[in-house]
Amino acid sequence: MQSFFEENALISVQTTQPLDRLLDYRAPEGGCHAGAFVEVPLGPRKVIGVVWGTGQGGFDPSKIRQVIRVLDVSPMRAEMRLFLERCGAYTLTPMNAMLRLATRAPGLGDPPSMQKIYRLGEGEPSRMTEARTRVLDVCREMGGLSLTLKELAEAAGVTPSVVKGLVKSGAVWEENSPRDTAYPPLDPDYGAKDLTEDQETAAAQLRAGQASQQYNTVLLKGVTGSGKTEVYLEAVAECLRQGRQALVLLPEIALTAEFLTRVEARFGAKPAEWHSGATMTERRRVWRMVGQGQAQMVIGARSALFLPFQNLGLIVVDEEHDTSYKQDDGVSYNARDMAVLRASILGAQVVLASATPSLESWANAEAGKYRRVILESRYGPAVLPDMMTIDMRSEDLPSTRWISATLRAAVNRRVVAGEQSLLFLNRRGYAPVTLCRACGQQIACDHCDARMVEHRFLKRLVCHQCGESKPVPDSCPSCGAEDKLAPVGPGVERLAEEAQAQFPDAKIAVLSSDLYGTARELKEQIEAIAAGAADIIIGTQLVAKGHNFPLLTLVGVIDADLGLQGSDLRAAERTFQLMRQVAGRAGRAEKPGTAMLQTFQPEHPVIRSILGGDEVAFWQAEMDERRAAGMPPFGRLAGIVLSGEDLGKVFDLGNHLARNDAPLRRIGAQVFGPAPAPIARVRGRHRVRLLIKAEKTAPLQAALSEWAGQVTLKGDLRMSIDIDPQSFF
Ligand code: ADP
Ligand code: ZN
Repeated sequence: MQSFFEENALISVQTTQPLDRLLDYRAPEGGCHAGAFVEVPLGPRKVIGVVWGTGQGGFDPSKIRQVIRVLDVSPMRAEMRLFLERCGAYTLTPMNAMLRLATRAPGLGDPPSMQKIYRLGEGEPSRMTEARTRVLDVCREMGGLSLTLKELAEAAGVTPSVVKGLVKSGAVWEENSPRDTAYPPLDPDYGAKDLTEDQETAAAQLRAGQASQQYNTVLLKGVTGSGKTEVYLEAVAECLRQGRQALVLLPEIALTAEFLTRVEARFGAKPAEWHSGATMTERRRVWRMVGQGQAQMVIGARSALFLPFQNLGLIVVDEEHDTSYKQDDGVSYNARDMAVLRASILGAQVVLASATPSLESWANAEAGKYRRVILESRYGPAVLPDMMTIDMRSEDLPSTRWISATLRAAVNRRVVAGEQSLLFLNRRGYAPVTLCRACGQQIACDHCDARMVEHRFLKRLVCHQCGESKPVPDSCPSCGAEDKLAPVGPGVERLAEEAQAQFPDAKIAVLSSDLYGTARELKEQIEAIAAGAADIIIGTQLVAKGHNFPLLTLVGVIDADLGLQGSDLRAAERTFQLMRQVAGRAGRAEKPGTAMLQTFQPEHPVIRSILGGDEVAFWQAEMDERRAAGMPPFGRLAGIVLSGEDLGKVFDLGNHLARNDAPLRRIGAQVFGPAPAPIARVRGRHRVRLLIKAEKTAPLQAALSEWAGQVTLKGDLRMSIDIDPQSFF
């Protein structure tokens, strides 16, 4: 592949504009590298793109325009371009959308952003005050180093105007300096912990995988609290020693405060953070510094996979089974699978860490594609919680209460002993349904096929599909009856109300993502709870993810049957994972923990395997079932959702596609549907679903492109294709 183009050479440029092809240009004055970020003319506009390679030709040479300028950022590496192409081909995503994922840095085309910094000058202030003396003292202590206005004023305990006064006299110098600075170096040997024998064996395997500098994937499986994090930080250390960059993906980035502290304790400084909660300035700094090799370690949400690493040697996917790795960002990709793809191109190691791996990863390990490294026991005195079921059929609770007498007694014992309990219910809000007792209507969203969920904390009804909300009405919107609206079923807010009534002396805290304005508030609340600010925690699945509550010794699952309803292929797998994760929150320190699952079907095979803890048997049974049905990971699926405002037209399109299935039949794939999607209307648009099922080795993407390419979408009709769908909504 050619890597440098002389001035005026014919080159092709990929832009983020919705054109499904490369555009030809002439290289700018001074030439440009393949991969360079450039500004090019497109019609009357200037747009940003990446030099993809030699021009394709075939256009009138005199009409080909020249690149305007090369941007002041590191060129995109060939490996990254290949990754974007392969990822686009796998997910059937056009390249312009792929490039958008890889350029999510604000101000990419801008000159480097500058900021004012301050340090000791040489002038004499006309008049000395105590405040001025303090500023000069701080400057002296800093030696030649500079601070921002805010930092200097805060360190001296003065207002910024005092510093500005000193600048006038030249006693303090004000200078311009680039805002984006390198991240402090991480020391791989800074705070290494003594590992247990098991942990050391595991760490040695990861270090060896790292040392090879060849692509390899490891499934790091260990019960919660076994020290997986400690172990994979050793792989990070080895990666840093090799001078390569490391990326750690975490599912619930709002909870990373604890993780950041651990990284700092291990490597002596904080890593770069990449997630949607970061400010524009932070994001720009991360993107640029990663691209210059001046950020050695990034912890991030799934989109961090598309950062312009210069020398990436390790990708850790923590809680690899987590469903949030597969979500629609405009592009539908599974970050876990794409991490493996990126690493295989790079010659890097992937570590998939989980207490409850996904069936896909488990099957890949069984097939020998991934190495398996296992931690069998919890670290230190911590032991796994005792698990038991509470048979709700014999508990005889009124329909407006959800905490059984058995669970209540267990919570009471913890409250008396000064230990924490967690009541887990995976439902946000106050009540999932609001019913009119006069006419029987349930309040639904005007735009979606979904019921509105009452959020008493917000004093509103909220649609969890489209986010629309409205005040809770006084009278029924259907029949007008007053004071007849009643909440049905529990959400965490309602459960908190019940808990407050049952345990009047206990401090109760609700942890649900919607109750906190900012990620920071949520983080602070979690830390306060971990330190003992609550006796009883009421939480949604937010609490299942990776945070340590050392005082927690009891987990009560309010409705263990919740996830087993519905027809989702992964219902059993999900329930198994979630229940084991939640239960794993208990007893992570010295005191042993107990997990109690309230269920109406204690004999259900999934509930039994959760209790029995025979994971291998559970996975084996799940795998056999999926294999027999030709379902993933033994077969492949693609989900097609068609949508539009006119239901008839959407169905017509679906039927047309289903009838013209020759490209799919040629590869032995089957089409199911069209059928209304489980959520049949969102934001006023009707949704119709088709499901394609193929054998594992069938060339599915090519066939799908050909099949979908047979139709042109008219008017407001839309089609989205989801390869390897995780759930069927
Ligand atoms: P996991 O990621 O498997 O849930 P962690 O790595 O979070 O487990 O470990 C659980 C707890 O035990 C953490 O507080 C961690 O700091 C501690 N821990 C684990 N291994 C060690 C060790 N070798 N030395 C000191 N503390 C450890
Ligand atoms: Zn809605």
